[in-house]
Amino acid sequence: QVLNDLLDLKGNIRVFCRIRPITSEENFGHFRPLSALDSSNVLLKLADNKGKTYSFDKVFGADSSQDEVFSEVEPVIKSALDGYNACIFAYGQTGTGKTFTMEGTLNFPGVVPRAIEALFKQAVNSNHAFLFSFSMLEIYLGNLKDLLVPHPVKAMDSMPPCLSIRTDLRGEVEIDNLVAIQVNDFNQAMKLYRLGCRFRSTASTNSNTKSSRSHCLIRLSITCYDAPERRRETNKVWLIDLGGSERVLKTKAWGRRLDEGKAINLSLSALGDVINALQKKNGHVPYRNSKLTQVLKDSLGEDSKSLMLVHVSPKEEDLCETICSLNFATRVR
Ligand code: ADP
Ligand code: MG
Repeated sequence: QVLNDLLDLKGNIRVFCRIRPITSEENFGHFRPLSALDSSNVLLKLADNKGKTYSFDKVFGADSSQDEVFSEVEPVIKSALDGYNACIFAYGQTGTGKTFTMEGTLNFPGVVPRAIEALFKQAVNSNHAFLFSFSMLEIYLGNLKDLLVPHPVKAMDSMPPCLSIRTDLRGEVEIDNLVAIQVNDFNQAMKLYRLGCRFRSTASTNSNTKSSRSHCLIRLSITCYDAPERRRETNKVWLIDLGGSERVLKTKAWGRRLDEGKAINLSLSALGDVINALQKKNGHVPYRNSKLTQVLKDSLGEDSKSLMLVHVSPKEEDLCETICSLNFATRVR
């Protein structure tokens, strides 16, 4: 572990890129602007035959498996049992596979179920005793919504902000009234996760835009005990499916859709600014610019490990958004 930290000269954020495979419904031509050059470089081919390479800590090509992705994510998650906070972000345009990576499907489970399983397994085999608690919230139009508390669906649009954020004397972020339920095993945690998923903002019946209008955050708080009644520390693991990064002004959104897009764009750039400032270690970190960064204030930076999984589309028509995502990734790395 110590050696690991000494070798970790690059700071505490890692940036991975995952390229979505082409689905069977998509029958576009031969031109694929994006490909995985090797395990850490993505090649972007432009129409004029010029290419540009983007470097990452790890690149997962279109044929990568959930297993492969999780094997690289796992060490960051497990560091929560060694005294770190951990944040895993899924970033990218809507439809690029963020939810596939985080949640996965029945046959291809993603980071969330695997992380929960790995943490419980590791905790059982440890010399220390750990207590887990599970919370799940959504940031929608700049408001925090507890996903473990049922909300009347009809009234959702007019909901007042239901949770507020405080920082306590030790600098730890407190989300007032956020439900945190003690979980003793994988099944209990997954039950809550599925419950939380049901309460997400499903703005449209079109499943493609469903739940892409908000950030969805899972928080596992893990308290380590040296002995019964002797709490040593609490660390947090955040598993975050970010709202779609597509730039709203380029889409034909209007009204509420436009507001939702603007809110997401603003908070994503605030997140980029915070990570960038942390990387540069240049003093002021602008946490206050969004609810997302306020919530994560004590889980980014020192004593924390973060992983940004940037998802990109293989499609030519998405090229502009792909370039934006690759640029975002470059800025935070
Ligand atoms: P997002 O959450 O970024 O909007 P989704 O995770 O919903 O995107 O992915 C869009 C579609 O593509 C879904 O049907 C999903 O199952 C599929 N998909 C995404 N990534 C992969 C992948 N790596 N392998 C197989 N199918 C994928
Ligand atoms: Mg999604």
